[in-house]
Amino acid sequence: MKIVAAKKILRANDQLAEENRARFKENGAFAVNIVGSPGCGKTTFLESLFRSLDGRVAPAVIEGDIASSIDAERIEKQGVPVVQINTDGACHLDATMVTAAMDGLELDKIELLVIENVGNLVCTAGFDLGENLRIVILSVSEGDDKIAKYPAIFQRSHALVITKTDFLAQSNFNVERVVGDMRRLAPEAEIFQVSALHDQGMDTVADWLVEKCKANGG
Ligand code: MG
Ligand code: ZN
Repeated sequence: MKIVAAKKILRANDQLAEENRARFKENGAFAVNIVGSPGCGKTTFLESLFRSLDGRVAPAVIEGDIASSIDAERIEKQGVPVVQINTDGACHLDATMVTAAMDGLELDKIELLVIENVGNLVCTAGFDLGENLRIVILSVSEGDDKIAKYPAIFQRSHALVITKTDFLAQSNFNVERVVGDMRRLAPEAEIFQVSALHDQGMDTVADWLVEKCKANGG
């Protein structure tokens, strides 16, 4: 029987992630890892984000999915360069997959590289992809207990985006509870409230990301 320790795999991943980070830096690309549950609205968030960015930075997307290219096609429709990674069943992206995807992009022309991770709040937390920033998306329809139930991914994110706020009136989602839980776990994290489908609150997110890209030399 062969036993491979998960710790070893993660260590190897971390090393590759550092190489990715160095490559992003060399090319002046600011990389953002977008995580969140299936159906939380990651792709809708990106569609709205690119509308709000309105060409202020040169974007590209790496789309991670277990199967299909539905999300990549949505991004392509906006005229944003996109590479699809199909993970063949794997429930998260790892640094090697991102390295491979980079070969399909003109990295030196990209200022903002968005990596949409596989929908998953659990193991995405453990895999550094080499990103500069991790954004976790939590939709109102998922419920306000998710930070308490899946702390690792929230603790390791630099920003929380609460989406689908247009559903707040029809739900018992307690925004204060979520903000309080996030502040306890990640006091430095930015917190945004948006309805991406209706382009509400997205300018604040876009402005913040433009700042980050510019500070990165993009
Ligand atoms: Mg998606
Ligand atoms: Zn996984």
